[in-house]
Amino acid sequence: MPSSGNGPFGYKGVWAKIDLGERTVRVEPADPAVYRDYVGGRGVQARLIYDHLRKTGPLKDPLSPANRIVIGSAALNDTAVPTAGRGSCSFIGPMTASPGPAPWVPGHAPVAGLLTHSSAGGLFPNMLKRAGIDHLIIDGRADTPVRLLVADGKVEILDAEDELFETVDGRRVARTASAITDALTRKYPGSSTMCLGPAGWNLVAYACLTGDHHRNFGRGGAGAIFGSKNLVAITAFGRGATAYHDAAAFAALAKEIDAQVRTHVADPKWTASFRPTTGTTWWLDRTFNGKYLGKQGGYLPWHNFDEGWFPPEDQAKVGTDAFLAISGRHNVCNRCRHVMCTRAAKVEAGPYAGAGVRPEFETIALWINCCILDRDALFRLNYLCNEYGIDTMTFGSVMAGAMDLAEKGFMKAFPGAPAFGSAPDMIRTLKAIAYRTGDLGSLLAGPSDRVIAGVGAANPGAALKDIARCVTTAYGGLGYAGIEPKAFPGMFTAYGTSNRGRGDHTYAWTIQAEEGGLEGAGNLAAYVAGGQTGKALVDSMGLCDFFTEDHTSEPFLALYRALTGLEYTTATMTACGRRIYALERHVNNGQGRTRAYDAYVPPKLTVPMTGGALKGRAVDEAYYGRVLDAYYEHQGWTNDGLVPAEKLKELGIA
Ligand code: SF4
Repeated sequence: MPSSGNGPFGYKGVWAKIDLGERTVRVEPADPAVYRDYVGGRGVQARLIYDHLRKTGPLKDPLSPANRIVIGSAALNDTAVPTAGRGSCSFIGPMTASPGPAPWVPGHAPVAGLLTHSSAGGLFPNMLKRAGIDHLIIDGRADTPVRLLVADGKVEILDAEDELFETVDGRRVARTASAITDALTRKYPGSSTMCLGPAGWNLVAYACLTGDHHRNFGRGGAGAIFGSKNLVAITAFGRGATAYHDAAAFAALAKEIDAQVRTHVADPKWTASFRPTTGTTWWLDRTFNGKYLGKQGGYLPWHNFDEGWFPPEDQAKVGTDAFLAISGRHNVCNRCRHVMCTRAAKVEAGPYAGAGVRPEFETIALWINCCILDRDALFRLNYLCNEYGIDTMTFGSVMAGAMDLAEKGFMKAFPGAPAFGSAPDMIRTLKAIAYRTGDLGSLLAGPSDRVIAGVGAANPGAALKDIARCVTTAYGGLGYAGIEPKAFPGMFTAYGTSNRGRGDHTYAWTIQAEEGGLEGAGNLAAYVAGGQTGKALVDSMGLCDFFTEDHTSEPFLALYRALTGLEYTTATMTACGRRIYALERHVNNGQGRTRAYDAYVPPKLTVPMTGGALKGRAVDEAYYGRVLDAYYEHQGWTNDGLVPAEKLKELGIA
């Protein structure tokens, strides 16, 4: 059996500290206690960033060289466990910065950017593990453009070649993500590359990193962090095998888990059963007309989150079946089996003809929120976001805000501002943002408070609060996801308390529970907190959100033990999840996050919906305040949303 290096089996046991400013790399033994207490992936990265900030103090500017970005894997990556091919990327995110002043937010307290974690699949995470390094810990800024090569346990800092750049409007700009990936794949056959695109190069606040052409570290602005560091790409290549504490026991247990997942996916009772065919686009019908639940829908956002409903005769144009009709073969993450949510897609003819991958539900929903009801245009926009390296979800929220501003007459100083319902406007504006072209592109490329201030400066007679009313990402929001925020108080709490920023839907998900009758401030708070703990572990184990089994059950922990040699019970593993979530929150407290950030409700969300099955619903600020009270109490935090010293001590963080 090969050695695991340093620390528990399953990991490579080494991480690389890379200082781009000094052009140095130190490959060091990892700290086994950090792996034991923070599990892997996201948890370990939170600890590495916390330790960095303890030395430097809070980070004032996410785009400064002082920001640390960590990219890496987890113990379960590259094993036979289905969907365990997800890697992690963590950093302080530019999109969530709201340093102020922001007079459009009553009670605004400055936030300097939040600890952001992104998860990506594809091949890159498994290949990075095979290349022999658990985490790349990247500090500083290179004085000229560079890229990283990770192979056989070594990391090299190399000059980024001219062929990775092009000249656009007289400026030297990184090429598209697929052009960079293709160039580096030609150079290193069999490798995998994670890179920025022109948006990251141009420091767009919601630029992503793209791996294997369409697998993104999407939310929060990882692409902009690469751009700020003059770092273009990371290429990984290796053949290193994962080391097991007890390979025979692991193989037997993994076979059982595999069979369970297969059975689960084959059972139409479970939502997992739709993933191999429709993927997440199943939710398009579910959220709109309740095709699978008997007309209980009405929470697919419309017209910048004003409504959760639009004329039903248009729904089929952008429904689940419409996207199934352009779907092709599976195009899944490395070693994913059974669940297999992703498929290639192709539009055969028309102005948006081309090949790519089927967009995800959240992406489509947030572009329907821009009143775009053209499936082929939505497919094309998704393709272009992957090319330019832009997070599809935040882009959707930014565009809906810009369209609202234009409709209300605030964008006259920004020629070409997009209009609701115009796909050509969206495509043109997307390119302007990615390349920061003209006043419009520069304006919309920044975080939202700068958008509000910029539009305010162009409309001196207008009240800033009327401008801010159009921008739901105000006050450092990441952008609400594709479930209408007015529809469910529990989901709004999940949106409001997510560690990676207001609007994130992945850290807790309440929809089926709330439809099933979950209510009451204490119950909602406990449900959201429990989801956040569980998701912290999913990300830290390297699992996909769509893994079907209980990852804290004793049988699953037996498998984890056979892999790593680490003894966890359900209680001790759950404690790791709570530790990770509290540590992230503590980092965010240091960055300025208090109850003020969590409690902010964009004013337009308090206006009731006027149609659909959930007509009359809106965010009730007083009730939300009571849920927040219960949430902080459940977490053991102060009523101002701070993690107290005794809680840090209790969780073993201090
Ligand atoms: S279910 Fe989908 S996102 Fe998850 S690992 Fe499989 S292909 Fe990737």
